[in-house]
Amino acid sequence: MADLKVVLNELAEVAAHPRRQLDKYLAEGRKVVGCFPIYLPEEIIHAAGFVPMGMWGGQITPTVAGKYNPIFTCSIMRSCLEFGMTGVYKGLSAVAMPILCDTFRGMSAGWRQGVPDIPIATMIQPQNREDSDAKEFLYDEYKEFMKKLAEITGTEEPSEEALTAAIELYNAHSEAMMDFTRLANDHLDVITPVVRHAVMKSATLMAKDEHLAKMKELNAALAAAPKYVFKGKKVVLSGITAEPDEFLNMFTENGIAVVGDDLAQESRLYRTLIPAEGKDALDRLAGQWFLRHGCSVVHETSFTRGKMLADMAKAAGAEGVGVCLMRFCDVEEYDYPFIARDVEAAGLRCLLLEIDQSTQNNEQSRTKLQSFAEMA
Ligand code: SF4
Repeated sequence: MADLKVVLNELAEVAAHPRRQLDKYLAEGRKVVGCFPIYLPEEIIHAAGFVPMGMWGGQITPTVAGKYNPIFTCSIMRSCLEFGMTGVYKGLSAVAMPILCDTFRGMSAGWRQGVPDIPIATMIQPQNREDSDAKEFLYDEYKEFMKKLAEITGTEEPSEEALTAAIELYNAHSEAMMDFTRLANDHLDVITPVVRHAVMKSATLMAKDEHLAKMKELNAALAAAPKYVFKGKKVVLSGITAEPDEFLNMFTENGIAVVGDDLAQESRLYRTLIPAEGKDALDRLAGQWFLRHGCSVVHETSFTRGKMLADMAKAAGAEGVGVCLMRFCDVEEYDYPFIARDVEAAGLRCLLLEIDQSTQNNEQSRTKLQSFAEMA
């Protein structure tokens, strides 16, 4: 059996060095497509022979992105554009972007102007999921996306067999990721908030077959390790991302463990499997969109996210929910008051923790975590 610490270190290295991971794939002669968050049909990109690699920005104060992204753009898109314009993503064959919110509309145009050497393929998921033509619309979008990707990269469109194999791989990977989130809670001495996040982030940076192999090793090692009884406070995290490590270390410093998440960079990507039924692979992929719930970028006629988070927290024995609010992400901001209402109505604490990739200052969050640790 693989050594737990060795596997965790390998995944932490990948999570800490996305550029190094990109260089590794390029040196192996593989082609990589950068994937803007979230819910891209990555299976299409994988089936076409590319390594899909997540783009999650990073800690940087933008100096050139302001040319196309105004100061009130969400901080993750500003840092992604900054990295694109300053050559950090050089070597990508293309980038792919889902137009899930208004920010992406401006961002797609900004990318075309600011990063002309990396072509972009976009696609739109229908927000009115109750419309009778919504699924057919998405099916056509995926078909068009597949065609665009082939055109801009000079490659072939993937076969039905390749798409079906990619779906099976991605579903197996999603199951392994959700298994990890459950196993992790019995090992909170080893799976600290930083370690948990590194495992989840590494999944977005590695080819899924490679990552699935690592997750099987990791889950087997966790299942075999003795359980640990954690005595401190516990939270479930929600939001887009919970980065950087300095932010997550504040949880550990205050004796708080992360026992579940609804982060766009983490469990949101894995909790909804691609359905088994459908007229073909694209139809199955389109069907997944209609099964997603409790997410700020997926419209629902009734608000389910607050209750979902409260239920998650209670099931995991958490005393609170930490909403990691990406600065100027309007869709997350709209959800927050309703999340707070439902979480507090369930007798839990709701913490608003701001995430801003353009600053290293997390002192407001530190104070809130200290008070949560003392009072919850
Ligand atoms: S969903 Fe939020 S974080 Fe993501 S691109 Fe839109 S505004 Fe930015």
